[in-house]
Amino acid sequence: MNIAHIAAHQDDEGFALGTMLKYRRDPGNSLLFICMTNGDKGMSFDPSIPLQEAAEIRDREMRSVAEALQAEYICLGAEDEFLFDSKEIRLKLIEALRAFKTDVLFTHWTQDYNLDHSITATITAQAAMNSIIASVQTESPPLSVTPKIFHIDVGEGYGFEGTHFVELDQELIDKKARIIRLHESQMQVMRKIGPDFADMLVQRSADLGRRAGVPYAEVFRPCLLDRRIPLAGMLP
Ligand SMILES: [Zn+2]
Repeated sequence: MNIAHIAAHQDDEGFALGTMLKYRRDPGNSLLFICMTNGDKGMSFDPSIPLQEAAEIRDREMRSVAEALQAEYICLGAEDEFLFDSKEIRLKLIEALRAFKTDVLFTHWTQDYNLDHSITATITAQAAMNSIIASVQTESPPLSVTPKIFHIDVGEGYGFEGTHFVELDQELIDKKARIIRLHESQMQVMRKIGPDFADMLVQRSADLGRRAGVPYAEVFRPCLLDRRIPLAGMLP
């Protein structure tokens, strides 16, 4: 299968990274990370770092994450924290989904603490549907089947009730924690506002695992829009 992870920012993949790693165990799978924005506001508490430099740092960090999963990485280049729905960004995403021949994709939940995330979820649902529509033209030919969508866990407080659990073993959780730390700049930023981000992700997976009766887990919610509903068995 061809599995895409579509997020607003570099480092948003933490809540699905264990699942992406589990897909990686099957060499027949291809993985793609897409970020809608360039991450240039990522040095959140140090405005002395030029925005362009911040974007370059985050690009390098995201590329090292993708490399660790033998995945491709595409950045659609919108301005961080100012992502708007537009014809241009939709066409870029439709083309990326077509070129990768996407079967299933993971994206944000539809309501979130960051509007870039929510808009990404909205654009992604539209792009998935349009990816089969031949009259919406991009460089690559239209897909024959609409890519299926799973929304990613966003935690409590946003109306997200996860329904589909993916079990993670100790090896996957250790890799997930190690790989998310490749976002060195973001690890530092998040340390200023809360607990260690990698430790927090491991704790979240342990809590979800306890709920499902397994060591660790990640949780998802299928998109229920017509044609975009993933079938059972598309998760690893
Ligand atoms: Zn984000």
